[in-house]
Amino acid sequence: MDPNDARVILEEERSRGLELIRAADTLEELEVAKVVALGRKGRFAEVQRALGSFDHDDRRTLGMRANEVRDELQHAFDERREDLHRAGEDALLDADRVDVTLPGRRPRPGSLHPLAIVERRIVEVFTRMGYRVVEGPEIEDEWHNFEALNIPPDHPARTMKDSLYVDVPGLLLRTETSAAQIRTMESHDPPIHVVCPGRVFRQETPDATHLPVFHQVECLAVDEGISFADLKGTLEAFAHEMFGGDRRVRLNPDYFPFVEPGAQVAVSCFICDGVGCPTCGNGWIELLGAGMVHPKVLENCGYDSERYTGFAFGLGIERVAMIQYGVPDMRMFIEGDVRFLAQFQGAA
Ligand SMILES: [Zn+2]
Repeated sequence: MDPNDARVILEEERSRGLELIRAADTLEELEVAKVVALGRKGRFAEVQRALGSFDHDDRRTLGMRANEVRDELQHAFDERREDLHRAGEDALLDADRVDVTLPGRRPRPGSLHPLAIVERRIVEVFTRMGYRVVEGPEIEDEWHNFEALNIPPDHPARTMKDSLYVDVPGLLLRTETSAAQIRTMESHDPPIHVVCPGRVFRQETPDATHLPVFHQVECLAVDEGISFADLKGTLEAFAHEMFGGDRRVRLNPDYFPFVEPGAQVAVSCFICDGVGCPTCGNGWIELLGAGMVHPKVLENCGYDSERYTGFAFGLGIERVAMIQYGVPDMRMFIEGDVRFLAQFQGAA
């Protein structure tokens, strides 16, 4: 290489290198620019390699100039890298910027499940009347679920067809909350005024009016001198609190093994006021089964049935909720459809 060519190449490489560094928009482009300007395969490196073949003076002046050019390019490269780095951080900060003047996003308040709303209302009505809330186990033995309630071993309710037995012999998922009556009477002396809300289980195929898991509230009152009139009065008070002050209560004779006498209880329809409508049909809505506690049940719990009497009734919460909210299909309660459930926000 001729020293004069080397001099020209150095100046060309200097301006070309500065140009490349300025033009680099990213750290990657900048790295490429550096390799092109100062890399081993570039023309600048060629000049450096040729220095050794020049005479003393040329070697000195061209060597000095080469160092100056390399330092200048290196400096420009460092500065540009610093700029690009800072710009990248700024962009990240920009993307992350929080506008503190925007209104906040409020969490959407949840709502109680309609069955929970109805259960709470029922329980509240009874606790205001002086009843105490008790709970029983969901897995029961046959004594508390059947025998003590005067349901003998040959009763159809005890077949595998209706009840859900667990793997342990003699244990099943309770078929009604009445089992809690027995547990209460076994462990407490009269007077007794309790309500027992809870889940019950039966072998049912789900349809518009049946579910294999549903909810009941059981009511039990035992004391000296409790009569059928007390039962009717309590049911009327409950119906008025729950469905409105002008509701009438009707009792028709019915049979349940654990009561004597037993009754099917209906309230006058609060939609048509007893005239007759699609919900009630004939003006009455059948609500629950009730009756005077069977003397055998009292004796099973160690009570003197000559001295003590009592009444009991069990209320289906799903049934009450369907009537109160006009829900046509019981399955809607368990489908978890938020559009359905959100309608009960703030209810009760
Ligand atoms: Zn009606």
